[in-house]
Amino acid sequence: MDRETQFEAGIRPSRLEEYIGQEKIKKQVSLFLEASRKKREVLDHILISGPPGLGKTTLAQVIASEIGRNIIFTSGPVLERKGDLAGILSSLEEGDILFIDEIHRLNPSVEEALYPAIEDFRLDIVIGKGNSSRTVSIDLPKFTLIGATTRAGMLTSPLMSRFGIVLNLDYYDIPSLKMIIIRSAQILGIEITEEGAVEIARRSRGTPRIANRLLKRVHDYAVVHSNGKIDRETAVKGLDFLQIDENGLDSLDRKYLEVLVNRFGGKPVGLSTIASALSESKHSVEQVIEPFLIREGYIQKTPRGRIATEKAVNLFKKV
Ligand code: ADP
Repeated sequence: MDRETQFEAGIRPSRLEEYIGQEKIKKQVSLFLEASRKKREVLDHILISGPPGLGKTTLAQVIASEIGRNIIFTSGPVLERKGDLAGILSSLEEGDILFIDEIHRLNPSVEEALYPAIEDFRLDIVIGKGNSSRTVSIDLPKFTLIGATTRAGMLTSPLMSRFGIVLNLDYYDIPSLKMIIIRSAQILGIEITEEGAVEIARRSRGTPRIANRLLKRVHDYAVVHSNGKIDRETAVKGLDFLQIDENGLDSLDRKYLEVLVNRFGGKPVGLSTIASALSESKHSVEQVIEPFLIREGYIQKTPRGRIATEKAVNLFKKV
């Protein structure tokens, strides 16, 4: 595990009651958990969708702890061949959870091998080659697949239709983010006031992962410049130091908008052009930078390219 993953694992909620916000989703999850307990049936397959850092992995882990079963983590791009999937499936025990992150990126042949596994709990293996090859079916224990995706629209319809439960996570409001920050601070032994937490929450783009990262960095600032305690003033100064402005825009967002407004004079600009201007991948521009800018009304996606809105243009007039 790298340091970031270790840090996340340390503050990740493990029970449903510790999972903050997403009230409707939590109600649904707790009902399905209770129903499967009462029916003594293995939980149906679940798809969790939502932007990065919103708590998909965390929710899967929470579900595993609530039912007291093992969870095995893998991801779409890691499962390159059918054999990789077969290896994981044959290690499962009854009631276990198989978590596949970025499930929209499964290789088509692996995806096809997954169908009988999740539908009939059966694994078809081809033995031998050419004319003498034959297919052998192996029974698998009943398990629950939890798929996570940042792009539910990219799932093939046969895969989509095999999920009995679909949960769409939404961005968090400020009070929820504030609670997440205060909870993480308690675990990490960081002193923070409510006002300090609100300041960080306001600039966290509705995303718990960003809130937790900012908490750590603002704490660094507080340790160096004051007594380590985060109050409103330290939070504001720390966030300014991190170049995150009062609108929650960071330096990359501003550079993005600058490209659109100043370099291209408000004309539509294609994704590839923006990505190369920022030296970022198209994937991260589309997945990490743009959703927030669209949500906050700074840019619009049109068939001809991305366009800066009035709000974005005004940002540069003020500066
Ligand atoms: P995703 O899988 O959607 O990218 P994660 O589940 O890895 O996101 O969550 C990122 C971080 O945010 C984790 O460290 C986790 O502790 C925190 N987090 C996410 N959702 C919540 C929540 N509802 N309550 C508290 N912390 C959360």
